[in-house]
Amino acid sequence: MPLIPLHGHETLRARLAGQARDGTLPASLLLQGPAGVGKQRLALWLGQVLLCADEGERPCGLCQQCRFALTLQHPDLRWFFPMKNNGSATEPEEAQELYGTAIQSRVEANGLYARPDGSMGIFHYVTRSIVQLASRSPAMARRKVFVIGDAERMVPQAANAEAANALLKLLEEPPADTTFILTSSEPGALLPTIRSRVVSVRVAPLPDAAMRRFVADDLARGAIPNETPDDLVRIANGAPGALIGASDRGAVVQRARQLLAAADAGREQALRAAFTAGSGKARGAFTDVLDALTVLLHERAREATGRGDARAALAAVKAVPAVEEAKRAAEGNANPQLVTARLLDELAAAAR
Ligand SMILES: [Zn+2]
Repeated sequence: MPLIPLHGHETLRARLAGQARDGTLPASLLLQGPAGVGKQRLALWLGQVLLCADEGERPCGLCQQCRFALTLQHPDLRWFFPMKNNGSATEPEEAQELYGTAIQSRVEANGLYARPDGSMGIFHYVTRSIVQLASRSPAMARRKVFVIGDAERMVPQAANAEAANALLKLLEEPPADTTFILTSSEPGALLPTIRSRVVSVRVAPLPDAAMRRFVADDLARGAIPNETPDDLVRIANGAPGALIGASDRGAVVQRARQLLAAADAGREQALRAAFTAGSGKARGAFTDVLDALTVLLHERAREATGRGDARAALAAVKAVPAVEEAKRAAEGNANPQLVTARLLDELAAAAR
């Protein structure tokens, strides 16, 4: 399973590869730029450049180091990113196993993954793990590289000040054979103590030509919505990651609320809401909206019961099977707009 190739960023790549060749690349870097523009993919690419054994143009893509790096199996290319909290008792070794599994599933998805949700973080056991790994010699290459994605999600925990301080020391003065590459779309939210120890590099959104190559990539096609290239390029707005998963929880819940409000306002309003919905949403996101709708209906039933409004409670409960039915239809490849129209019609009827 190969990672999707890095699309775009050619000028920046040439600069970084040149610095890696001359030995002038800062040892602690921060790639900053909008969410989804490919900062972590770029960081992994730079990791491959640093590990590549070829004497000429790097990365060669052919040497053993490159082959291991390209499938994220290189023991000297470590990747950390926000994940669910595994509990404060997690040992660094367990953390490495957790990340091994998570990275494996990202590789199986060709490196195309949705943005981690807001509850995910980079917890202290990860920091301890990084500190521990950084003290070891490279296992296979001449160097080792740590990529820390969404670094603003590193959770400061007073109880583990020791690990945090050790990491700061590492970032300030990494071992001679070690490079740290942090990425962030919210560099303002980074701990100032971290920000002051890394050299910032701006990663720009992809221009349309590079976006077009991304959406035409066979590996990308299965992971992005089934829309025309023009629509995809427009929706992505220079950020390929914006096309994947569309797991923005806030937007999903907001859309579910809008649909419910439209159903409450009556049939006509409901139909209009169904057909003014953007068609540019990933199918996965549509079923997310339906899931959120089920949750909202249960909430509504509970609230109505609480204030003794049995009629409203019953209406909400009666609407749930219609949502489940819509979910089945959506998963069966039906047109989301038609499914929404039918669902809202039924919700409006249930509300009466
Ligand atoms: Zn190579």
